Amino acid sequence: MDFTKRIHRFTVVPSLSGELAILQTLAYNLWWTWEPDAVELFKRLDIDLWQQTRHNPVEMLGILQQTTLERLVADEGFMAQLKRVEEKYHGYMTGKTWFDRTWNGERPLRVAYFSMEFGLHESVPTYSGGLGVLAGDHLKSASDLGIPLVGIGLLYRQGYFRQYLNIEGWQQELYPENDFYNLPLKLQRDEEGQPVTIELDLAGRKVHVQIWKVQVGRIPLYLLDTNMEENDPLDREITAQLYGGDQDMRIRQEILLGIGGIRALNRLGIDPNVCHMNEGHAAFLALERTKLLMEKHGLRFPEAMEAVRAGTIFTTHTPVDAGIDHFPADLLERYLGRYYRFLGLSRDEFLSLGRQLPKNPHESFCMAVLALRLANHANGVSQLHGEVSRKMWKNLWPELPDEHIPITSVTNGVHTKTWLSVEMAGLLTRYLGNRWREDPTDSLLWKRVANIPDSELWRTHERCRERLVVFARRRLKDHLHQVGATAKEIAQADEVLDPEALTIGFARRFATYKRGTLLFRDLDRLARILNDADRPVQIIFSGKAHPHDVEGKELIRRIFQHSLEARFHNRIVFIEDYDMAVARHLVQGVDVWLNTPLRPLEASGTSGMKVAFNGGLNMSVLDGWWPEGYRGNNGWAIGKGEVYDDIDFQNEVESRAIYDLLEKEVIPLFYDRGPDGIPRGWLACMKASLQTLCPVFSTERMVKEYAERMYLPSFEEWRTLAGDGLARAVDLARWKGEMHRSWHQVKVISVEAPAPEEVPLGAPIPVTARIALGDIVPDRVIVETYCGVLDSRGNIVGGELIPLDHAEEEGGGSHRFTGDIETRFCGRHGFMIRVMPRHPELGPVYEQGLLVWG
Ligand SMILES: *Cc1c(COP(=O)(O)O)cnc(C)c1O
Repeated sequence: MDFTKRIHRFTVVPSLSGELAILQTLAYNLWWTWEPDAVELFKRLDIDLWQQTRHNPVEMLGILQQTTLERLVADEGFMAQLKRVEEKYHGYMTGKTWFDRTWNGERPLRVAYFSMEFGLHESVPTYSGGLGVLAGDHLKSASDLGIPLVGIGLLYRQGYFRQYLNIEGWQQELYPENDFYNLPLKLQRDEEGQPVTIELDLAGRKVHVQIWKVQVGRIPLYLLDTNMEENDPLDREITAQLYGGDQDMRIRQEILLGIGGIRALNRLGIDPNVCHMNEGHAAFLALERTKLLMEKHGLRFPEAMEAVRAGTIFTTHTPVDAGIDHFPADLLERYLGRYYRFLGLSRDEFLSLGRQLPKNPHESFCMAVLALRLANHANGVSQLHGEVSRKMWKNLWPELPDEHIPITSVTNGVHTKTWLSVEMAGLLTRYLGNRWREDPTDSLLWKRVANIPDSELWRTHERCRERLVVFARRRLKDHLHQVGATAKEIAQADEVLDPEALTIGFARRFATYKRGTLLFRDLDRLARILNDADRPVQIIFSGKAHPHDVEGKELIRRIFQHSLEARFHNRIVFIEDYDMAVARHLVQGVDVWLNTPLRPLEASGTSGMKVAFNGGLNMSVLDGWWPEGYRGNNGWAIGKGEVYDDIDFQNEVESRAIYDLLEKEVIPLFYDRGPDGIPRGWLACMKASLQTLCPVFSTERMVKEYAERMYLPSFEEWRTLAGDGLARAVDLARWKGEMHRSWHQVKVISVEAPAPEEVPLGAPIPVTARIALGDIVPDRVIVETYCGVLDSRGNIVGGELIPLDHAEEEGGGSHRFTGDIETRFCGRHGFMIRVMPRHPELGPVYEQGLLVWG
């Protein structure tokens, strides 16, 4: 007998009455996680419970004894602090924001931000790593800036795994079950108190989905959950684990996120006009939006699609194809067969949406390709990654030169208040005033870092380093306890690391491209560096490998084994179970953050930015964000961005570069102390780093950029196409159809540019182009010259587009267009003519197949 069906259920909630009731509100809004006074308040409730619950106030409030609560109400100091935090909270929730001030409420923008993971706090385990933490920081800054945005994701029963190492250092995985009722989650219910649910059809099975809400400041985040009794056990597993399971599981999760996500919003009465796909996992959302519009307005797929595309944004995070989801046709048929037929698409039309070359039947269905086809705005997450992405996806725009591929970049950032230590935040407020909290993007403000006395900045940083060392020892002791070490061994853990030694941090996913063991190529040299009696150096490692990644686990095992060798024993520590709490301690306490990805495989990386805010210095390969951050005086670059074909050679060169930098620059600078024990040169570098990096690499800057460069333009395009019952979208689809039918007549007949072999700089060159247009009228096209300097292979680089004017019709559908080319640089130039369709209202429109070069 299945007992679970007979159990009557109810939820017990803590009884916090009167003056303490506000604690409940605070615990259920993650605003507290980036407000140090609120954190302090929860710690004061019970410091042991705070540790035991992994810093989870909701759970704490559930276990606190009545006597403790009574004691708190009687504690004047506590009650005064509670009052202060309450006022701050109300001030935050109701204050005027950047978005209000800048756009004055005149833009009814509504953004929905979709992501497979969200890293908000260690107590809410719905993330695995960088992608999730970025999504969490995005929501927090959207809240600070007042962007009208909601988040959509999945609620995993087990989240990502917890890591511990066995006695050999081999990674073990634990999957503790989350208790949703002890997390800051609220099940969404209707007026009758019944859970709000939506349904999905997966391979003929009905799947019921319930919706939970996490409040992140002003921003609601809705998380979908299939763990309902009505569901087939197979489908209850869809939200069991983040990145667990096989492709069959992955596609169901992505259908849930994209299609289920749109349905959930619709069910909740939220009607976004801009949808942002954080990575390709969410790309199915555009299909569901299209389907809704088709039903509502009685339209065909291509018509509704035009409007949806205008209101869709895609951010790619992966510079390697292996990191992107590809699904075989039979899997799509199983789960989306009925769905695409309902959209009025043939099997081939549907599959071609996910192929770079639409006609290639051997290509599998790629989620990033689907996202690129269905989004009007796409971006990579650093300038370098933007470049890499344009090359990676150029097959989708076969008629465009690389630099015109419409994938731009918005460089990542971090949420300042989440990652900054309390000590550093206090120091900044003393010398910069309070404004860095509201507007950390003001670079003039950060110039004032120069006014911080060296000794104060140094003491502040030293306190954070000490705390990191204490934290590392405690975690090491926990580990030793776990593996059954002797009392003596455990006691010795108090001797590892030196709170005053130069401390290097290295923490990240243990994917092989991040090259966690680069430092260990020459063990003798490393041992000499670390054990110099006068100038000791120590390294703290942390990070998880994906459960199936044996190579990644092997890297961890090797580092762990080295940490046991006598010569490294007190100098290298591996902290288990990397999460946001470990990350916070590390980024706040290290002197140097080491980053060694194989260029250009790190799309951005964000942990180094967290370090920069706390006064640590970056030492990194010129990959991801670092080419934008590095200025010569604010940290170190490993190499100059070279890429060799032989990876082993690359590893050798770069590991030597690391040793050289450490021996010749980093260590001498750190230990060059004045009579007061303060390293002036090092502090100059710290200050340069704070001044140059803080105004740029925050999510405040990043989300503003998304708002100005992506959300608002996308909103305007949506408004144009979706207005009047999608009249313009219908018209655009029809117009594109006509253009496709007529375009074969467009040809460049001849081009004349009577120029001598050498042209003086700036002298205009007259150009005449004869173009055959057939029955297309000349103001339905735009004819341009594309002119620029030639590289050694004869390609135009950094070219400029200059439109030509229609001069006359010459009969027989042939037209003369004329204009001038202007040169702005010396050197070998070339130019081409290109013809593109021009919509009467929307202007030039790029559409695959509708572009001619001559
Ligand atoms: C910031 C952060 C990351 C991102 O790390 P990168 O290696 O810089 O991409 C990953 N995991 C956690 C827990 C983080 O806090």
